[in-house]
Amino acid sequence: MNFEELIQNVYHKIKNIDDEGNLASYIPELKNVDSESFGVHISTIDNFNFGVGNCYEKFSIQSIAKVFALSLAYSILGEKLWERVKVEPSGTAFNSLIQLEVENGIPRNPFINAGTHVVSDILLSNLNNPKEDFLNFVKSLSNCSEICYSNRIATSEKNVGYRNVALCNFIKAFGNIKNKPSDVLDFYFNLCSLEMNCEELSKLFLFLANDGFTLEDNKQILSKSQAKRINALMQTCGFYDESGEFAFKVRLPGNSGVGGGIVAVHPKQYTIAVWSPKLNEKGNSYKGMRFLEEFTTKSELSIF
Ligand code: GLU
Repeated sequence: MNFEELIQNVYHKIKNIDDEGNLASYIPELKNVDSESFGVHISTIDNFNFGVGNCYEKFSIQSIAKVFALSLAYSILGEKLWERVKVEPSGTAFNSLIQLEVENGIPRNPFINAGTHVVSDILLSNLNNPKEDFLNFVKSLSNCSEICYSNRIATSEKNVGYRNVALCNFIKAFGNIKNKPSDVLDFYFNLCSLEMNCEELSKLFLFLANDGFTLEDNKQILSKSQAKRINALMQTCGFYDESGEFAFKVRLPGNSGVGGGIVAVHPKQYTIAVWSPKLNEKGNSYKGMRFLEEFTTKSELSIF
């Protein structure tokens, strides 16, 4: 497969379409970005790397960081994790409160915001220096030393994060948050503020294409079965109430953030990261979705 030629072709086609999306505006700092930015980077498990456009420019990965948080919590707690958070698609928006009331504060899955509050709480209970240890875990997935939290983005979200404050306190009322909600929220806003570029993002996700082992130093992060389960969760829940649409059109496990990033995993083949900050009405990158649909269609590689 000539990924380089394919990515170039699809990139230039999608770059020129009308972008019907809009920048996320509910976190003020997310608007301070060039809305025309568009980058793509692929990393394969046989060590081919290729990127185009703004693929070396850092952006706010937002909810994509939930996959790193889940991976670390899963490696610590194993299957006991699923007593605190379920594995069903929610069919609701990423920040919805409605299911929690009838489901006793057990979030539907780890990728909606409610689920990541519980995952953050687990990390707080199990890490000595939660923010530092989490960042070191992320960096260690691909020896990416240049990755940082953005204080600017975290503070901007903290100032307006009323729904997240409500979600975390609501779950606490059901007893499914053990630490102080203010500490959980501080950790959550920081994890969402992680910044990286498409090259870093695709490389950091390679362990999920490689049976749970990092590619560079063959370090085991998760068991093979755990890596498969995280991919299954990304396939069914990675795009909130657009997860079915993504599975239907792109047919790969993936995850997306309101900063306009999307990462997709083709197990045993490659990871691909796309960034274009204007979002469709479901909160997923408009051009990112269109690029990946075209890319997986043209490549004719499929997990199905
Ligand atoms: N920090 C964002 C929030 O909690 C993450 C949402 C997303 O990227 O989908 O609203």
